Amino acid sequence: MKKISILLLLFVSLLGVFLICARSFSLLNQDNALLLPVVPPNLNAQISPSEVFVSPAVPILMYHHIQDYPYGKDLSSVSIFVSPANFEAQLNWLALNNFQTVDLSYFQNPTRISGKPIVLTFDDGYQDAYDQVFPMLRKYGFAATFYLITDNIDKPGFLSTKEILEMQAGGMTFGSHSLSHPNLTEISEQQAEQEIYTSKKVLEKTTGRQVVDFCYPGGKLNQNAINIAANSGYQTAVTTSNQINLGKTDLLQLNRLDIENETRFENLPALKSL
Ligand SMILES: [Zn+2]
Repeated sequence: MKKISILLLLFVSLLGVFLICARSFSLLNQDNALLLPVVPPNLNAQISPSEVFVSPAVPILMYHHIQDYPYGKDLSSVSIFVSPANFEAQLNWLALNNFQTVDLSYFQNPTRISGKPIVLTFDDGYQDAYDQVFPMLRKYGFAATFYLITDNIDKPGFLSTKEILEMQAGGMTFGSHSLSHPNLTEISEQQAEQEIYTSKKVLEKTTGRQVVDFCYPGGKLNQNAINIAANSGYQTAVTTSNQINLGKTDLLQLNRLDIENETRFENLPALKSL
């Protein structure tokens, strides 16, 4: 009986030592993994579409300018202007209908929130993003993602670095909208890599944060652009496909609802039904 107890004690002790060793070894491995050099993205690698699939049904709204349409301007770009008054009416409707803004990381990590999730996006980084949009969003306790054309940062009519940092400190997120807003389907693969990958690096330097959201300029994309976006390290990319994201949605081809000056949210089936 005594022998059995000693053997049992020995066995338990050995098991303890084994477990401690195994745990230390695995921790050591994790630490070592952190020390490995960061491998630059392979821009030519092919990714499997299944790597980028998610499924929550969340509307993403697409805006450009929030300002009154300039008097005397021809009507060619009227669709990208929403007046500040109508914009506020839209935000007010969202607040009254219990919508809560989330950023695009929500598609990968849906968290429990008290309202109905919605993503607000603003393209091109116009000056009115700071003058009109930022104060209005703060008034309603909302946040948004702004896609910047990095060559235009600090140019007249566009956001300055100082404004970008102030907005970021106020809870806003910034994504890349390329270096110079080309049609990605009409330029060489090398140029497309520059536009998609280098703009990410430029914006990361400007904001001091990792940039993981991309917006295809003019909504023009092909498989090559999608692959470059994936291999550059973007986690999401938005299009101008005017639909809600339902069921399985490719994170690198997210749809957005086109919001115009005359859009009344109470008449928009995609929002009303949520
Ligand atoms: Zn644009």
